[in-house]
Amino acid sequence: MNRTDPPPTPPRRPHRPAADASRERSFAGIPVSPGIAIGPVFGTSEPKAEITRLKIHAEDIAAEGARLDTAIAQSRKQLGKLRGRLTILPEESQTEIAPLIDAYVRMLGPSRLVRGVKRRIEQTLLSAEHAVATEAEAIATAIIAAGENNHSAEDKAATRRQAEEVREIGRRLVRNLTHAPFRSFAGLPQGAVLYSESLRPADAALLDPSRLAGVATEEGGTDGHTAVMLRALGVPAVLGAAGIGHAIKPGDVAVVDGSTGTVVLNPSAATLAAARRGVTAFARERQRYARLRRLPAETEDGQTIELQANLELPVELPLIAQSGAVGIGLLRSEFLFMNRETVPDEETQVETYRSVVEAMSGDPVTIRVLDWGGEKEIEALSMAGLVPDYIDPNPALGMRGIRLLLRRLELFETQLAAILRASAAGPVRVLLPMVTNVAEVREAREVYERVARRLRRRGERLPDRLPPLGIMIETPAAALSADALALEADFFAIGTNDLTAYTLAVDRGESDVGELYDPLHPAVLRLIQFATEAALRMRRPVSVCGEMGGNPVLVPLLMGLGLRSFSMNASAVPRVKQVVRSVEIDACARFARRVMEQADPAAIRQIVAGFGK
Ligand code: PEP
Ligand code: MG
Repeated sequence: MNRTDPPPTPPRRPHRPAADASRERSFAGIPVSPGIAIGPVFGTSEPKAEITRLKIHAEDIAAEGARLDTAIAQSRKQLGKLRGRLTILPEESQTEIAPLIDAYVRMLGPSRLVRGVKRRIEQTLLSAEHAVATEAEAIATAIIAAGENNHSAEDKAATRRQAEEVREIGRRLVRNLTHAPFRSFAGLPQGAVLYSESLRPADAALLDPSRLAGVATEEGGTDGHTAVMLRALGVPAVLGAAGIGHAIKPGDVAVVDGSTGTVVLNPSAATLAAARRGVTAFARERQRYARLRRLPAETEDGQTIELQANLELPVELPLIAQSGAVGIGLLRSEFLFMNRETVPDEETQVETYRSVVEAMSGDPVTIRVLDWGGEKEIEALSMAGLVPDYIDPNPALGMRGIRLLLRRLELFETQLAAILRASAAGPVRVLLPMVTNVAEVREAREVYERVARRLRRRGERLPDRLPPLGIMIETPAAALSADALALEADFFAIGTNDLTAYTLAVDRGESDVGELYDPLHPAVLRLIQFATEAALRMRRPVSVCGEMGGNPVLVPLLMGLGLRSFSMNASAVPRVKQVVRSVEIDACARFARRVMEQADPAAIRQIVAGFGK
């Protein structure tokens, strides 16, 4: 899943005539920001910062500390300038990029990095630049090692990003300490394709998307901050196109396809013509999606379908606003607990929840309480001793979600208090993860009501009716007890990711039996159907917030099973809305009946593929 896919941007016009076919060369890289760019290649490089002074004498410790302080001050100033420059960018880009720059600035404060560097200067007599390089690398390596047990691709990506941040700030300090020049984009011709061996997030923040056609690099990946920034800027980009650096010659023209991940140097006339058609098609699709944003999510026969967004990181808020989603159907609160050494207190949590609720301007926000466990590891909880310290041989079947929260009431109560306080700012719902039985919901509700009473005694103004308390239906046990659970829970959110994994006994991450992970398996569909029918009978709102809910091919089937509410990655909303607007509920119901008669997943896939054709 790509959490930050924005709606696509129209690429710029070509600048040069096509080269002949014999010179065309194609390179495969990682597509990180969609769109097609055609333009002359502009290469930039950054001279390496050489560290020649390695050691100092004991009498120079104070002077070396002062050099470090000067470099820190200089780096802060540079980042301040960079932040100021953001005002030329579209507002959505600003809101995404500013927090990343702020994170760099924070690291120049009394951080683990700065403390460690000072210690190395004083205790091992390293020069400031050597101390920075060594300490930054040591911290980055430790972050990666601590994240090694993370199983989810998202957590792994977050770990890599965190390590990348430390290295980045280390490089800036070293550059300032050794007076090595920084990369400059001066002279970048209008409409050029920028090539660089690698591109750092701070470099990306310097780019002017109105001058630049696209970006191609030799190194880099999809989940780093550079990729996030390029997507925020709406610049078509392919990173990690190995071999391209050696092939580029002055005067080359490139086609960058940020949707497929290809870079073509010196395109033939045919390639260029195809790329131009791609540019037009892409621009049309963008326009269509922009128009769709304002249109209701309504079927051809007038049935309104609720389309909401899943939020994993607050930086996604601008994308959610652009997507046309009406509210957040799943706020995965794990991000608040990640990439930090301590558990966030009530105030920190209130601030974050409140800012999300306010940003949604009256549209509902469903906040899921912490879903620790399984493939989701959180260092701050381990460091606080809040999670088991033994290695669970089977974490997916162990302490996870509501199971942990009911055993760590201080953690649960703090989070509930923060959510309840944030609910004064707009409509909120509270969602419990990994429920398997009725007792868990009852117990959670007791805690919820106790926390609310305590807050009221403290003088907090809470809504008269507490926000609805609902549950994830993501275990077969919950799905099959949905009728009993509907008596205890105010709403259901069907988590098809875990439901598929637990039903089919297949790990949802990488696995040798990954091909068995199939949400169209009749067992999974029957559980969804059972839970949905129970919810509808008991008049409980029910939605789907797993990946199935954002799949335009599967949504008509889910609508046919009775579902009317879906929450998904913001980038999926326009495509799902388009499908919703093109179907009739009766046709979906007939389609679902045909599917549910099947016992063979392959037959189901065939019927699904044929729907609407
Ligand atoms: C799910 O399991 O489908 C779900 C939405 O929760 P998560 O992906 O966060 O486990
Ligand atoms: Mg889940």
